[in-house]
Amino acid sequence: MILSLAGFAQKAMPEERPPYVLVVHGGAGAMEWENMSDEARRGYEAGLLEALSAGEEVLKKGGTSIDTVVAAITRLEDNPLFNAGRGAVYNEAGHIAHDASIMEGKQGKAGAVGMVGIIKHPILAAKAVMDDGRHVFLVGRGAELFASSKGVDTVSPDYFYTKERHDAWEKTRKTRLEREFPLQPKGTVGAVALDMNGNLAAGTSTGGMHYKRVGRLGDSPVIGAGTWADNNSCAVSATGHGEYFIRNTVASDISARMKYLGQSLQEAANEVVMVRLATLDAGGGIIAVDRKGNIAMPFNTAGMFRGYVRAGEKPYVAVSKEK
Ligand code: ASP
Repeated sequence: MILSLAGFAQKAMPEERPPYVLVVHGGAGAMEWENMSDEARRGYEAGLLEALSAGEEVLKKGGTSIDTVVAAITRLEDNPLFNAGRGAVYNEAGHIAHDASIMEGKQGKAGAVGMVGIIKHPILAAKAVMDDGRHVFLVGRGAELFASSKGVDTVSPDYFYTKERHDAWEKTRKTRLEREFPLQPKGTVGAVALDMNGNLAAGTSTGGMHYKRVGRLGDSPVIGAGTWADNNSCAVSATGHGEYFIRNTVASDISARMKYLGQSLQEAANEVVMVRLATLDAGGGIIAVDRKGNIAMPFNTAGMFRGYVRAGEKPYVAVSKEK
């Protein structure tokens, strides 16, 4: 269900470009946003802070935005609270199939993997595809074989198991009624960064939609839909009902609006998420940073796990709407 525009989350425009910026998200999907216990909230916030801190370590040392995005996302993939890596959701057949993508804004290089089941950190497999450069998008067994040939760690599928996600799958399987509404986004993760050299990067990693069909790919690994980076405009990572994000090429549309319509990051992001997607009843949100270090984090759901850090500032994290 789409809620009011209160989900607008805009951050003050810095006068000058900050030396670096990192923004992360942990999904905007079906959650007990309003009734979340303090303990649960603190758990998610701690996970976001850990990812911000891992990414900021890279930025502080003058590292690249790509390495920053990887550092932040691998932390979130390790955290079973989020729907990426450990803790990912199950598909109809009771398997976990991960999707991930990454893009850098200087040359527009990108890499993505879909439906991988044994890659410990799917974002590293996406990066291996990007670094190799021959292809952009590999899926299934071919993606797994390619990633492991590049030294990316593989694990048994049991590594990703969490009781909560497995119980949710079991419940949906048993309950005919719920099966009619199974496609719920649950907590995809993503990061966007601007490094000291002014380079932008974006990455997204997910188990996809709860109880998705076998073979289904969402927006997260689709360059232009779930992930986009262009040094001339912005870097974007999305979360939400992937089918709509693909149909509306959400991430690249925000960048295109900035480039071709001269919109600010805030205007472009709000128009896509709060107007276009909201009109379609497509729940979700995005995080974005532009080349000047402006941040946008709009979402049209009741909450979105999100946070950012700018050079010299304390990190900010939030879960539900700001009052
Ligand atoms: N966008 C993801 C997908 O459709 C789900 C999510 O963001 O939670 O696979």
